Amino acid sequence: MNILLVEDDSVLRDGLINILNTSGYHVTATESGAYALRLLDAEDFDLIVLDLGLPDMDGLDVLRRLRKDKIALPVLILTARDTVNDRIEGINQGADDYLTKPFDLGELEARIHALIRRCYAGFNQIIKVGQLQLDTQNHQIFTQDKTLTLSIRENALLEILMLQTGKVVCKERISQRLAVDGDALADNAIEVVIHRLRKRIQPYQANIRTVRGLGYLLEETEHGV
Ligand code: CA
Repeated sequence: MNILLVEDDSVLRDGLINILNTSGYHVTATESGAYALRLLDAEDFDLIVLDLGLPDMDGLDVLRRLRKDKIALPVLILTARDTVNDRIEGINQGADDYLTKPFDLGELEARIHALIRRCYAGFNQIIKVGQLQLDTQNHQIFTQDKTLTLSIRENALLEILMLQTGKVVCKERISQRLAVDGDALADNAIEVVIHRLRKRIQPYQANIRTVRGLGYLLEETEHGV
């Protein structure tokens, strides 16, 4: 999951980057609303954490602009403004959730998890692909009633593919998600994990398709192999 964090308080920003990285999210951070809009044009994000009081523009204007063409992208607003009117204005402009400063970092993390679950799993806690089932709450993958025993990397990889079933997940995102101590995984190492995982899931009517030059895509197959 790729998060865009737009926050000009450097202490808060660094704290958020830290806690979100630890949870396995990749974070791109900026303090500028204008730069955030440029990033949104250039890159794919899964969620935005947006401060309203930015040095160069009002966060609500960022929200208005991005809602014009990114209708479905979940947005969590951070603000020191805590009046009911501001909250209503944020929701009206298309924010999905709203957190008033000061807040607990753990609370923010929980809200982000919940928002991602809500937006990408169609409110379902369990995502099914073929005979595979991902429990998005505890990150476990099952087949029928049994837990599928995978390495930590294989499990993390299958989770991001299942969360984006039918969509191409790019190599960069996989590399960041499977990074060890902040070191992104090399292409050939990714291919090794993909190859192993593909074999493991084939009996369960699921396949990882390589989309040349773009990345990988998880799809259901008619029959287990
Ligand atoms: Ca601010």
